[in-house]
Amino acid sequence: MTTLPRVILKKGREKSMLRGHPWVFSGAVAKVEGEVSPGDVGEVYSSDGQFLGLGHVNPRSQIIVRVLTQKKEEIGENFFAKRISRAAHFRGRLSGRTNAYRIINGEGDYLPGLIVDRYGEALVVQCSTAGMERFKGILTNLLTKEFQPASIYERSDVALRKEEGLAESSGLLYGKEVPEFIEIEEYSCRFRVNVRKGQKTGFYLDQRENRFFLRGLSESKKILDCFCYTGGFSIHAGLGGAGEVTLVDSSEEALAIAEEHITLNQLDKIPHQLIQGDVFEILRGLQPEYDIVILDPPPFAKKKGHLPRASRGYKDLNLSAFRLLNEEGFLLTFSCSHHMSWDLFQKIVFSAALDSGRKVQLLGRLGHPWDHPTNICHPEGEYLRGLICKVL
Ligand code: SAH
Repeated sequence: MTTLPRVILKKGREKSMLRGHPWVFSGAVAKVEGEVSPGDVGEVYSSDGQFLGLGHVNPRSQIIVRVLTQKKEEIGENFFAKRISRAAHFRGRLSGRTNAYRIINGEGDYLPGLIVDRYGEALVVQCSTAGMERFKGILTNLLTKEFQPASIYERSDVALRKEEGLAESSGLLYGKEVPEFIEIEEYSCRFRVNVRKGQKTGFYLDQRENRFFLRGLSESKKILDCFCYTGGFSIHAGLGGAGEVTLVDSSEEALAIAEEHITLNQLDKIPHQLIQGDVFEILRGLQPEYDIVILDPPPFAKKKGHLPRASRGYKDLNLSAFRLLNEEGFLLTFSCSHHMSWDLFQKIVFSAALDSGRKVQLLGRLGHPWDHPTNICHPEGEYLRGLICKVL
């Protein structure tokens, strides 16, 4: 093996890596030996010389090492081939009812900095770190071999790239040009996904099972789908026999696609209305007449410092939602803020329930689906938190 740069940790700072946490923060590092440029593979050692693992090193980033392995092994084509086929194998068994799902979930699949989503025949790749960027060519070849997609499209237009010293990058990496819309099937719902311009890599795959859960509650119900994007929850509700649906989002483009989805899924006969605007304001103007309210807002707390303001936002929304529900109505309420813990989210929702004066039962929690695994040593990877509440 060639000599790799060595990252030496401060005394006592090896514990988290020994437990399997995949990040080394710059504050834990005593020194770096050898020349390093952003994205190099390097070795990590404890202060007393114990080998701890290998990872992508980026001295520009606060997360100076993203750990790839705790073993001494060569980081190259074979290494990535094994990780990709391990991720592919278990998904292949689970994906029977959808042709759109996440194939690689970054740290959750022991591949920090790499996201790969499948939309039918196309794969969409997001490389967020300098380390993964170096392997993009190799990764594209491996993904082609493993999945034989018609196209691989890159959507590396994420904020994290800037912190890593990388420019945004989007475009075709392999195969034929992707059409403007790719049609996918999710539990017999049909959706058109714009992988080139849509939010995230085109669709909120992380909410799939929760949308399906809603379907089972929906028969004859009057539903308010807040932060609806292209109507995922409403379409599932429609297939579950919903009586009436109201969709709200600030994005005109998203609502236009939601409208198309209603027709594509032959749900035009269900009374529906689409409202473009700010959910916070719109909720205040609606009548209390809904059987189910869904709140799926964007992350309000992208940084820890945003938590107090974000908490007020969640409280406000949930309070309005409880007020709009009929007796025996359901609230499906979500947070996708990394920094919002289960405990805090639940406190906020419960305090909104109390302030609304309603009697509320908690029926359960909703989270990530099977294609968004988290490494149990990396709690930061868990971000989607949902509560199912029932108003008596
Ligand atoms: N429920 C959707 C995903 C929601 S993503 C699904 O299952 O596909 C969050 C959505 O909130 C985005 O579509 C975004 O356009 C919208 N949004 C963000 N801020 C908003 C606001 N203040 N009012 C209304 N919509 C907003």
